[in-house]
Amino acid sequence: ALPILDFQRVDICEFLREIIAEYIPNMEDKNIEYYFEIPEESIYTYIDEKSMYRAISNIIVNSIKYNGYGTNIKIILIPLEDTIQLIIEDDGIGIPKELNQCIFDPFVRVDTSRNSKSGGTGLGLAITKSIVEKHNGVINLISDREMGCKFIITLNKEQEKNHD
Ligand code: ATP
Ligand code: MG
Repeated sequence: ALPILDFQRVDICEFLREIIAEYIPNMEDKNIEYYFEIPEESIYTYIDEKSMYRAISNIIVNSIKYNGYGTNIKIILIPLEDTIQLIIEDDGIGIPKELNQCIFDPFVRVDTSRNSKSGGTGLGLAITKSIVEKHNGVINLISDREMGCKFIITLNKEQEKNHD
């Protein structure tokens, strides 16, 4: 059964800082260099916190899990006119370009030998995509560089009210 989403008005900047705080110890354990750029002001979105937490943390956990010591992870929130863009990128081993679309399909993993020790099921990104889409958002894996992974999630912002 699909869980019913409970959409609430949430400051996405604060929400993101809370997720990140949770994973800083894991990053430090692997000597990962992290860089965050999140606006100081509040930016409101309507999200189901529990599922969106899962969607975003799946990506962060992957970046920590599949990459080695000294990897750089950047998490950037860019406010646009009607949307926000959340960029989560690393400079690790990356995902082959030809898998950029299907990596979001259930059970798709890069190769079994690479993952035999870490033992994921290949469901994380499929779950992330389905949650983002339930929020009318979009997720893409961008390959504009040779190294690493760059995920971009686009979500709608709360509509500005008219003050006339
Ligand atoms: P699960 O998340 O269900 O435990 P999983 O991590 O294998 O399993 P996904 O999160 O969907 O599944 O990721 C799919 C595959 O994409 C991973 O197995 C891994 O090969 C690759 N991958 C995902 N994120 C990264 C990343 N940041 N760097 C390198 N490879 C990645
Ligand atoms: Mg995963």
